[in-house]
Amino acid sequence: MNTFSCERSGGCERAHRGGLALLLAAAGVLTWPAGAPAQAQTQTPGTGPQSAGSSSTDDWANPNFYATYQGDGQIHPWHAQGGVWLMAGEPGMSNVAVQIGNEGALVVDTGVKPMADKLLAQIQQLAQQQAGDQKAIRYVVDTDGLMDHIGGNAVIREGGSTIVAGNFQFDNPGLTPGASVIANQNVLMRLVQESSSGYANAAPQALWPTDTEDFDIYNVHFDGEAVQLFHPHMATTDGNLMVMFRRSDVIATGDIVDMTGYPLIDTARGGTIDGELVALNHIIEMAVPEDKQEGGTMIIPGHGRLCDQSDVVHYKNVITIIRNRIQYYKNQGKTLPQVLALKPSADYDDRWGHDSGPWTTRQFIEAVYKTLPARGPSFSMLNETVVPATAAVAGGRSY
Ligand SMILES: [Zn+2]
Repeated sequence: MNTFSCERSGGCERAHRGGLALLLAAAGVLTWPAGAPAQAQTQTPGTGPQSAGSSSTDDWANPNFYATYQGDGQIHPWHAQGGVWLMAGEPGMSNVAVQIGNEGALVVDTGVKPMADKLLAQIQQLAQQQAGDQKAIRYVVDTDGLMDHIGGNAVIREGGSTIVAGNFQFDNPGLTPGASVIANQNVLMRLVQESSSGYANAAPQALWPTDTEDFDIYNVHFDGEAVQLFHPHMATTDGNLMVMFRRSDVIATGDIVDMTGYPLIDTARGGTIDGELVALNHIIEMAVPEDKQEGGTMIIPGHGRLCDQSDVVHYKNVITIIRNRIQYYKNQGKTLPQVLALKPSADYDDRWGHDSGPWTTRQFIEAVYKTLPARGPSFSMLNETVVPATAAVAGGRSY
């Protein structure tokens, strides 16, 4: 299993289409309800994209709505909302979020290494156009330690600068200049472990975070708004961070939300299905939709198009159902091969499954099976943010 990268195709165009539709709908240009692309996620397999509770349009009848985006090799800035932009592009397809304001730029994730120079150029161009007096990149936040999210760390960090007090600079003459790269401490711990154990694809030190934290919630004020960093425990890894921009009303989730497929639960790096569901429910809890449950808080997933709360609700429901089926089978004593043969995700695979690539449906089922207790309860379909019963069964795990 390639756990180092969840690079995948598909999603850039969807990101644009979803975002475009939301923007046009907000401007009253479109005839369908605002955020209908979001609702299209609820399609019943085999019936093609459609919007739940509203009439289909020709656009939704297009069978290629979710077709793989071929890409043009460029980074595409997309204004998410407020002071936050989504930077999507090939190859790698992992999303980068950029907040820009009077104090400079804060970058969430840095994509893949081959795209780093292009990404830096786009961020600097955006900063020249949108920032105030300060146009430098000040902070980078890594949502996890996978190579498709930290690949550009060195280039983006060196393209920026951190403001430090003069005495700090004086006391640390060897301090490497550049932006601060913030991550959960587990990210650095695992990167160091992988490097020291001689893993062939270990990330070089230049990509490691420079500022690691051990917090569940960390609040900072930057570019005229409150920025909150949340650390969900054991979601897709044990080092996830999610970033909420409160005035802009945007949440960058990293791999916890993936509009191109089932979440990459990296069990080798501490990921668990129940931790993932707790994190998804936390996002749902933080997001506030506008009228008809659409729009409002914009959510930038780790991969794929921009989405809103209802997208995450649909995503969470699908994953909860699959999780509960697998727990049901596991409670009956079924083995992993038996569960795989029963295809517990079959009715959702058209939209979310992959037979090939870095994260297949089979790998997802294996990760769910592996991280569920031998016997355990169902995960509530309500927006639970704790799972005490499961935690107890699983040996006192805390999510
Ligand atoms: Zn990813």
